[in-house]
Amino acid sequence: MVYQADSKRYETMTYNRVGRSGLKLPAISLGLWHNFGGINSYENGRAMLRRAFDLGITHFDLANNYGPPYGSAEETFGKVMKDDFRPYRDEMIISTKAGYDMWPGPYGEWGSKKYLVASLDQSLKRMGLEYVDIFYHHRPDPDTPLEETMSALDLIVRQGKALYVGISNYRPEETRAAAKILRELGTPCLIHQPNYSMMNRWIEEGLQDVLEEEGIGSIVFSPLEGGVLTDRYLNGIAADSRAGGPSRFLRPEDINEERILKVKRLNEMAAGRGQKLSQMALAWVLRGGKVTSALIGASKVGQIEDAVETLNNMTFTADELQKIDEILGY
Ligand code: NDP
Repeated sequence: MVYQADSKRYETMTYNRVGRSGLKLPAISLGLWHNFGGINSYENGRAMLRRAFDLGITHFDLANNYGPPYGSAEETFGKVMKDDFRPYRDEMIISTKAGYDMWPGPYGEWGSKKYLVASLDQSLKRMGLEYVDIFYHHRPDPDTPLEETMSALDLIVRQGKALYVGISNYRPEETRAAAKILRELGTPCLIHQPNYSMMNRWIEEGLQDVLEEEGIGSIVFSPLEGGVLTDRYLNGIAADSRAGGPSRFLRPEDINEERILKVKRLNEMAAGRGQKLSQMALAWVLRGGKVTSALIGASKVGQIEDAVETLNNMTFTADELQKIDEILGY
């Protein structure tokens, strides 16, 4: 069946301006880190992408090495682009990144111009795209001069291979330095992609102030702590969950009793607010309007529907915020 996007797709989603740019991103964005690789079901990944777009999720986040195997999430996305999304390309913001290990040898990771330019060329081929909307440097490189990495981002924009650039996992001072170089080159830094959740609040200590001062937006990854801040692990570790599968990023030992006791208390609190814990966790990262978009992952269509439903209940009382801090020891 030919995919026809839902005509009501823009009716419920909120779109937030990215820093001081002309671009807006949906409050909820979808990342393809897990569950879209060559080892996963193509039809499930395709169904999630279609449902997301039908619900107003216009932003899809990738990286060169998402899979497994590396590169295969971009191939999956390229196939959905070809099968379903081609007529909607101008309604989408597609991002990819380079910075982590991608291919062997000295030019297959970190932040040289050699690596970034070659990697984006490969990504565009895998996705069947002429350009990405946002290209990120995925992690700071302690050895390459920041000027080289930032001038590679500037070059990529001038070549028309990306419209905007961003950085990910940069600390506050690195962010300030990168923003200055990019501004001087004439390609402003659009966005920063850090991790942030109720359980991981490092960006509140300096980074958010830098982003505000520099006019840079933020899209926060793993707002559900990879699934810990959901009802996924309340009754053990299911075989189809991230902690139950081959991912090395969430191990069974991360689902320990101490953590789950806290999650159970948070889950009761969310129920009292008439929402799921996953929804309370997304509303929490978006509270106060500092974060542009919450970047979720998903393994099932229903999880994407849950995320979008968050927008129906986004406010917290001061008491609720205090109770969350107390449960998590902040
Ligand atoms: P999340 O914290 O949102 O975790 C997603 C996982 O949570 C899902 O795979 C699913 O787990 C579970 N989940 C989601 N919704 C629900 C629900 N409603 N009920 C129950 N469980 C739910 O984010 P990710 O860690 O997946 O990261 C999101 C994106 O961020 C990535 O795809 C990537 O684009 C980006 N990212 C960027 C990084 C960077 O360095 N820049 C690093 C990491 C991620 P399950 O699979 O078990 O069902």
